[in-house]
Amino acid sequence: MVNVSPSRGASAPAFGPSELDGTPAAARAAFRRIAESREARDADRERGDGHEPHSEILANLRAPRNLAGVTRPGGPPGARSEGQVVKASPNKAIGGGPRQDPATDYTPFMGRRRFIIHIDIDAFFASVEVLLNPALRSRPVIVGGLPHERGVAATCSYEARKFGVHAGMSLRDAYKLCPHGAFIRGNYHVYQSFSERFFRILHEYSPDVEDASLDEAYLDLTRCRPIYPSFSRTAREVKARVERETGLKVSVGVGPNKIMAKLATKRAKPAGYFEIEPGREEEFLRDLPIDSLPGIGPKSQVILRMLNIQKIGDLWGLPRTTLHSLFGLCGDDIYLQSRGLDSRPVVTAAVPKSVSRETTFLQDLWDRRLLLAHLAYLCDRLTLGLRECRCYAHVIEVKARYSDFQTEVRRRLMIMPRQEMADIYKIAEEMFLQLIAGSRLSLRLVGVKASDLVRARPLSLFEPYSDKPERLGAAVDRVREKYGFGSVLTVREKMLDEVYPFERNRGFVLKTASLTR
Ligand SMILES: [Mg+2]
Repeated sequence: MVNVSPSRGASAPAFGPSELDGTPAAARAAFRRIAESREARDADRERGDGHEPHSEILANLRAPRNLAGVTRPGGPPGARSEGQVVKASPNKAIGGGPRQDPATDYTPFMGRRRFIIHIDIDAFFASVEVLLNPALRSRPVIVGGLPHERGVAATCSYEARKFGVHAGMSLRDAYKLCPHGAFIRGNYHVYQSFSERFFRILHEYSPDVEDASLDEAYLDLTRCRPIYPSFSRTAREVKARVERETGLKVSVGVGPNKIMAKLATKRAKPAGYFEIEPGREEEFLRDLPIDSLPGIGPKSQVILRMLNIQKIGDLWGLPRTTLHSLFGLCGDDIYLQSRGLDSRPVVTAAVPKSVSRETTFLQDLWDRRLLLAHLAYLCDRLTLGLRECRCYAHVIEVKARYSDFQTEVRRRLMIMPRQEMADIYKIAEEMFLQLIAGSRLSLRLVGVKASDLVRARPLSLFEPYSDKPERLGAAVDRVREKYGFGSVLTVREKMLDEVYPFERNRGFVLKTASLTR
């Protein structure tokens, strides 16, 4: 038997044991059989039977529950008119648009089913605070600042959520709803150390771990099939182990791709486990509210509700073209997401998209020197972040929010990516001064962001190569490690002495303390 790999074709045939006798006749026979099977495959392709040898099997698997394409009796998928709206009913195959995205073709619930775990720590910052101070247990905990301070709640415990408090709510509003709650400023470094412990455990189970945020990760176990006899058992074990070793409760969702796993986690919260079993995806999605999809924001929700679309199942009746005309490219996302289609891989050790640092002031600021001092300090923290992830930035962006809450942003693209504090501050300062030049308002917030990150600095054709900036950065880091963050500061940064308390290791404790990195 000749083993023909469809991807490699006849140019690299893999011979079975009978072909290993080495006689020319046997080799000729083997090549003839390969050629025949290739011809047969090409003929299949011309007839439109599919582009893979397995296409028939896959088509059969797709037929009964094809969410993306439409399998309709009496005509090929393309026979349906684009504008036609098919009402989704529980007993019928779901109609949508006849087109199917080739990139997402394989992710639906068939064939190569992946096993993705989404794991999320419940009320992360608040849970860490409770763990560190058991007296807070069963009290509403709000992390982000004290009630009289400006700023927003970064996280709140489930006890606080009962009072209507949620993350992103202003502290003042949170206090109105929950005056007896425990308000805590928080400490990013403590949370980070918990997060590191969390990810260390996850990396023991699979090499394919994606950190979605400090407290949220995707694990792809698909490649580990030979190691784990039961993925479900492994997923439960991961959950139990994280909870045992960090002391924090986590919610775990399991599905065939990232979006399904994430939706499963939403169902599992708090502290639960939910697995979408093969074949039950449609049932799971149908009754979920539309706002559970990440692609549907408040504005899209209003539009969809006007069309009397409340649940994900209701979305299946809308053709892709309609969604596209309503929401543009987001509409395509909604179309795919609502069918549980997601071909995004679990990305490991990715270059971060951006590094940013920003702070709200204790009170609105007008003094230009102090504003620049803040900017310099934020640039310093930002470049520290860049060095930590060994990245260089092509784009630098500064952000200013005025006392009337208007926000303005200015950004600059650089051909040569930068990492050095002096360079980045110079660019940021220039843009910042241009930004605030015409304004008569005082400022409420300032921020700086580095994006379009790359791992290496390209060589310049016109300047001799020097690793001086890198060595300078490394030297500053070494001194700070030994003598504390405050041991190396620019004169400009030193001006913040008058305003903020200083901690040896953390540096200045800015207003948004839990986010002071
Ligand atoms: Mg969380």
